[in-house]
Amino acid sequence: MLGAGLICRAGAGQRALVYCAGRAGGLARRRYSAQIPESDKLSWMLLPTKKPAKAPQGDDAQSTTDLLTKAGYLYQSSAGIYTLMPLAQRVVAKIEAIVDAEMQRVGGQKLAMPSLLAPEHWRATGRLQSTGEELFSLKDRKGSMLLLGPTHEEEVTAIVKDMVRSYRQYPLRLYQTTRKFRDEARPRAGLLRGREFIMKDMYSFDVTKEQAIASFDAVEEAYRRCFDRIGVPYAVADADSGNIGGSLSKEFHFVSGVGEDTLLRCGGCGYTANEERAQSTPSADASQERGVSVYRIQSRQGDRDVCLGRVVVTAEHRPSALKIKQAWPGAVHGPLDVVLEATFGAGESSALRQALSRDADGAGDSLLLVDSSAEDRLAAGWLGDKCGEERSGDWHVAAAGDACAKCSSGRLDSLRAIEVGHIFYLGDKYSRAMDLTTQHHGQRTPVQMGCYGIGVSRILQAAAECCNADGRGLRWPFAIAPYLAAVVPLDGADRTAEVCAALVETRVGDSRPFPGQIAVDDRSHLSAGFRLHDAQLLGFPVTVVMGRRFAAEAVVEVQLRIPGLRLPSEVAGAAVQGDGYEHRAFVPVARLSAFLELALQGAA
Ligand code: ATP
Ligand code: MG
Repeated sequence: MLGAGLICRAGAGQRALVYCAGRAGGLARRRYSAQIPESDKLSWMLLPTKKPAKAPQGDDAQSTTDLLTKAGYLYQSSAGIYTLMPLAQRVVAKIEAIVDAEMQRVGGQKLAMPSLLAPEHWRATGRLQSTGEELFSLKDRKGSMLLLGPTHEEEVTAIVKDMVRSYRQYPLRLYQTTRKFRDEARPRAGLLRGREFIMKDMYSFDVTKEQAIASFDAVEEAYRRCFDRIGVPYAVADADSGNIGGSLSKEFHFVSGVGEDTLLRCGGCGYTANEERAQSTPSADASQERGVSVYRIQSRQGDRDVCLGRVVVTAEHRPSALKIKQAWPGAVHGPLDVVLEATFGAGESSALRQALSRDADGAGDSLLLVDSSAEDRLAAGWLGDKCGEERSGDWHVAAAGDACAKCSSGRLDSLRAIEVGHIFYLGDKYSRAMDLTTQHHGQRTPVQMGCYGIGVSRILQAAAECCNADGRGLRWPFAIAPYLAAVVPLDGADRTAEVCAALVETRVGDSRPFPGQIAVDDRSHLSAGFRLHDAQLLGFPVTVVMGRRFAAEAVVEVQLRIPGLRLPSEVAGAAVQGDGYEHRAFVPVARLSAFLELALQGAA
């Protein structure tokens, strides 16, 4: 048991509040200081002063970016470019600390690569061309081109090529947390899609494919631990590897209506995949009568569209340009287009045969892709024999309501989501292009790579988004809240230390989370209404209001704004009122610790 609190006042005129708690008897003495640094007092903080009179709800709900701006977390500089104000900086520091701990647990070595990159390596890998308009570039005084780094595969590969001398130096896992620059076509929603943003990027280097897959698996586990600790519910989805290249890829998502990604999730087995990549079969009740559709596959070459072949899918599905592109590995540059030619019912086999036997615009024998689920609808003999090479496979975009291709008993549901992390097995795409090889079984072979991104600044906005119930206000997950508590001394401000001491003493699980995590609203010149409104807007998990009942009875009002928190109507003898967004209770200071210990169980 802790001994009774002792309140030590600093010298006259100083505003420091000090609390020391020690073990009785002086043995194993520990001290928990409730000294509030000047910087944790709201009088020192640069907070916006223009606020709405009342937090709007329902139709008037504010966007999360509005809330973050009004509460003083973000300041917009230009489209997709923001200053992280001190409160946001504290959130970012907490996310980074979690990410650092988990990356280092799997051997990650932290470095910091430059933001200004020479373009040579980007030329070697072809990405100077293929990245297109997203790439920011500039000229130095000598007229030489420099890139503002959007990602660092090329740079890190060059470092490893130069520095690693022996296969014994692998596996190697290098990571950094730095600013990235991408000239996004549509920057949006504050930090969700910025043109300058903070990313943690790790790169793994292994001798063999098996070892590289083991690296991928280890980092996937590290990512799960990161997102478990951050505390926002997340989904892990099979994904496409896009412009990065490679074949094995998973995305980590926060499920949210404002997300730009669509995931399909099986209600039966839990299989989750990005819509671009998801595999499905038509639902059992889809009628065979609905037949199949034929699409032309074309690619833009110069100023004309060239037909590459045709694809047949069930009438209720669209063909997936992304899956189709993989039928020509490496050979198709630029986007592919699919254009509907015709839909054929079950009885129209001769018309279909005729359509398919036509040469693709005289391009000679071209590819005919037949979706496996359409095959079931093609009675034997439907296909003509003059339609070029035929390849069956998964060529359609899966849709909500389809049967899951993994368990075949569940149905797919669709969810909007925000991508917060992405991991890839890259294979030798970069090592081959940049000639990074190592000795293996007496031969030189390209090093096997993986890359792993986490959108640190995007997580700030996405967490705020997911926890902002109906636009009523910010509510931070406990692990990344800028401060865990706000103390608002409306009455009896000279006894603030007593309240801070009770917070500092509070144990949650097996730690005392509050030291260094308390902000005190010492702006006594502002109205009570303004200060209470600010406390709500800032969205810290715990607010302790020293109001009228404090001076008379040493009772404070505790407000808890913690996503997902459920409390009974009485905690530690105090009556609790809750409405799904927040909980409130009047608690004697003497029982504040006991109350919070019970109320916050499971929150930290
Ligand atoms: P998106 O599909 O959203 O554009 P991406 O596939 O381009 O993402 P990666 O290159 O894999 O993203 O980057 C790793 C992580 O960086 C992403 O998972 C995301 O969390 C974050 N990220 C990517 N682009 C941005 C951006 N413009 N603003 C903020 N965060 C971003
Ligand atoms: Mg992108």
